[in-house]
Amino acid sequence: MERALHNFEDLYNNAPVGYHSLDKDGVFVGINDTELSWLGYSREEVVNRFKFSDVIASEDVPMFQANFAAFMERGFVRDVEYLMRRKDGSRFAALLNATVVYDDSHRFLVSRGTVFDISRRKEMEEALRESEVRYRSVVDALSEGVILMDADGVIRASNASAERILGLTVDQIGGRVPLDPRWVVSQEDGTPFPPEERPAVAALRTGKSYRGVVMRVDMPDGKRRWVAVNSQPLVRNGEQKPYAVVASFTDITERKLLEHELERQARIDALTGAVNRRYFMVESDREIARARRFAHPLSLLLIDVDHFKSVNDQYGHEVGDQVLVHVVRACRQVLRDADILARIGGEEFAVVLPEADLSRAVHAADRIREAVAHASLPLEEGGVCRVTLSIGVTELRGSAASVEKLLRLADRGLYEAKEQGRNRVCVVQAHRAREHQH
Ligand code: GH3
Ligand code: MG
Ligand code: MG
Repeated sequence: MERALHNFEDLYNNAPVGYHSLDKDGVFVGINDTELSWLGYSREEVVNRFKFSDVIASEDVPMFQANFAAFMERGFVRDVEYLMRRKDGSRFAALLNATVVYDDSHRFLVSRGTVFDISRRKEMEEALRESEVRYRSVVDALSEGVILMDADGVIRASNASAERILGLTVDQIGGRVPLDPRWVVSQEDGTPFPPEERPAVAALRTGKSYRGVVMRVDMPDGKRRWVAVNSQPLVRNGEQKPYAVVASFTDITERKLLEHELERQARIDALTGAVNRRYFMVESDREIARARRFAHPLSLLLIDVDHFKSVNDQYGHEVGDQVLVHVVRACRQVLRDADILARIGGEEFAVVLPEADLSRAVHAADRIREAVAHASLPLEEGGVCRVTLSIGVTELRGSAASVEKLLRLADRGLYEAKEQGRNRVCVVQAHRAREHQH
């Protein structure tokens, strides 16, 4: 018994928690060694001399006074934080719990309290908050958009650049899956981007990181944006499945638009807007291969402006240029969208007509020829300029057909048209060409 009591005393004094008892005025009537050591006082200095408010930092005293009155009324207090003051004037953060003990007649006997030193926890919280603030400021300063997405695909955090690039406010971004259901997301080549294959979601699924994935986003207001996305899964120690993913992205819209413009310039003739020779050769070969594979007809026209040199000589180069633009416009009015119209030389144009047999091609050629022959281009200095076209027509036939071969045949037709007096359409077919050769 003696021994057991001793054990309790040891436990009371050396527990990693402060214990104390106060009378109804808040004066210490008992205190354990642990709490004394935290405060830096001896038992004699404290018991029957100090009120509990004497060991509370001055700025927290008013709060304590108010709380103490309420505590005496209620009989208990739970988890209140105070800044405590040590004998040497230094401070520590403490968590206080206390209960009033009554006698049998429900009269106040004593109040018992426990004190936890939570200064370490406070320091860690503060350090964490500081490091969060520091990271936050770094992340916010990035020109890249950054989002943190949890395992359910819900966005938990985002930075200022993410708002700017996505055109959404933080409130709109937070908690979303997906970001905006009205957005149409495509891959670089324009094909749909399945949601589960997009870099952030894919990183969550596969645990791999992704770099520089280009996404095309069509917004509901008609704006098109291009973003390059990186994603990095976050995995806890000893776990396989990522618990979150960090995705960063840059707006590459301007770069993309420039690329597209350069690509366009590389295939379009600046004066007339028709495609250029190089693009024509590539695209035509593709059309020819398709026509042969499906045994569909295909025809080609070669168009040359008659006596164009004299147009230049008579009216000047600028009028000559206008004539070329005018010829292309006339062609466009007759041709279909699938037809490929190219300016392949100074005043020479070629057209591939997929799905058109010879008679349809001749019909189209004649309509173009007529349209130009009957049009007159008004001149600035008064009067009009008229031009005519000679056109060679040929059709895809036989096995070894390439765009070069079709151009050669059409050129023969064009030559005939010039020979026969210009402003006309002449046909040359593959077998006839062979006959001619023999
Ligand atoms: P033909 O009826 O036999 O075709 O006679 P042509 O005068 O049209 O033929 P030729 O090949 O002798 O002349 C073509 C002219 O086209 C010569 C060149 O100065 C002119 N030309 C070529 N490119 C351009 C251009 O971009 N703009 C203008 N204005 N003229 C051009
Ligand atoms: Mg010519
Ligand atoms: Mg000519």
